Amino acid sequence: MTNRIDIFDAQMSALDLGSHPQSLINGELVNGSGDPISLVDPFTELPLTTYNDAGAELATAACHAAQEAQVDWAALSGMARGQVMQDIARAVLAKAEPLAMLEALVAGKPIRDCRVEVAKVAEMFAYYGGWADKVHGEVIPVPSGHLNYTKREPLGVVFQITPWNAPIFTGGWQIAPAIATGNGVVIKPSELTPVTTVALVRLAEQVGLPKGLVNVLCGLGPTAGQTAIEHPAIRKVIFVGSPETGRVVATAAAKALKPSVLELGGKSANIIFDDANLKHACLGAQAAIFSGAGQSCVAGSRLLVHRSIHAELVEMLTAGMNEIRLGDPLDEATEVGPISNARQFAHVSEMVARAVSDGANVLSRESTPDKGYFVPPTVLKNVTNTDHVAQTEIFGPVVAAIPFDTEDEAIALANGTEFSLAGAVWTTDVGRAHRIADHVRAGTFWINSYKAIHVSSPFGGSLNSGFGRSSGTDALMEYTSTKSVWLDSAATPRIAFGYVS
Ligand code: NAD
Repeated sequence: MTNRIDIFDAQMSALDLGSHPQSLINGELVNGSGDPISLVDPFTELPLTTYNDAGAELATAACHAAQEAQVDWAALSGMARGQVMQDIARAVLAKAEPLAMLEALVAGKPIRDCRVEVAKVAEMFAYYGGWADKVHGEVIPVPSGHLNYTKREPLGVVFQITPWNAPIFTGGWQIAPAIATGNGVVIKPSELTPVTTVALVRLAEQVGLPKGLVNVLCGLGPTAGQTAIEHPAIRKVIFVGSPETGRVVATAAAKALKPSVLELGGKSANIIFDDANLKHACLGAQAAIFSGAGQSCVAGSRLLVHRSIHAELVEMLTAGMNEIRLGDPLDEATEVGPISNARQFAHVSEMVARAVSDGANVLSRESTPDKGYFVPPTVLKNVTNTDHVAQTEIFGPVVAAIPFDTEDEAIALANGTEFSLAGAVWTTDVGRAHRIADHVRAGTFWINSYKAIHVSSPFGGSLNSGFGRSSGTDALMEYTSTKSVWLDSAATPRIAFGYVS
């Protein structure tokens, strides 16, 4: 095997990132002065590199830089902003391979998935670049000869916090709508996977994104993150991550009277009826929980199966588990890689151990690679919906298969958690499909499909899955505020002290 550190260094060099992770402030790569942080290759469990936490000082510098650059960016025409964004989309595609390689190595995600996600990032800049000159208000027909119109204005500078499971994808997902609408950005990717976000912004700057408009903080939440949340330049906090951290972040934002968007975890129900095409449903169930090693907020971690086909479906699913190609994320053939980091590996392992002690039967794939943070694809039987494992996000390739008897029971089980992010139903009865879609509480719901997402479609949740929306035109609303402008067109001005009629 080629030395992994050499592979890491080669991608860093191809992306002009220096020898180790650094924050990107005002167009410059800058070393932090905080505590050291190691990046570990989840396939070899060996360190790839170390860097220093950005800390409060760089967070403050990032907020200042964004505040300054945002003024000129917002003053540009939407079309000019859009053109820069189309150039960014092309630049991402031109460097797709090193971006994908770096993501695969650091996040432990199969290279084939990383290539798709990098292409999706390019699509996000193209899509929101197209919107940059089309975000506008409306004229409102108020009475009494006044003219009233609205404008959609940028918020100013926003702070975005992203997790480790899809770093470049989540970075593009949030940066693109923010800059399309004229905002400046400070973004803090996970301290465990910061490099591809830095690479994305550096590439963008090389093709015309003004330096300082988007700044990347490589470091920890409680230091760099907390400072940025509190900085007066920050007008909104957009957080993608766990419910526990989301609560801390939203509380800190609220204390500073700043709004937030929270994109949090899930415990999504994948419902299979006895009239479904079982082969398709099984493939869907497999993709829903095993792709990405289950490290997806929308993972179908509760498989609700009609009792009459429960045994057959579980058997098909467990047979399929053994066909999945587990292995090195850099290997072209790999379909599922390791868990992305040691902390998450420990969490998934503890969740399975606890499920066993609570009485679950474990059906696991027979073999896993002998090194790396691998958790075998696993189906848990003999689980009830109220069990800890059915109520708590695992974020790993582990699914609880729970039988149901009626449509009403399936809906009640699907809604029986504190999460509300996504869900799916598999059935050939079109009426039933829509009834289930109507009654299952979810921000995204699929019929005879799973995990279909696109930048043009809104995404988000409620309850412990968060609030606010990313993606689609909803994101344009999240990154702008409405100004209502009044003009009195009467020959003799009428000073309105209150209501017009
Ligand atoms: P996490 O909550 O541990 O960390 C997320 C981010 O928050 C990281 O950048 C981290 O450094 C930062 N952070 C931690 N403490 C902070 C603080 N006090 N102040 C500011 N920032 C702080 O989540 P994770 O383990 O990186 O990611 C996994 C979670 O993300 C899962 O729950 C998953 O469901 C969720 N997720 C949700 C979506 C979605 O769109 N709904 C998408 C992907 C992942």
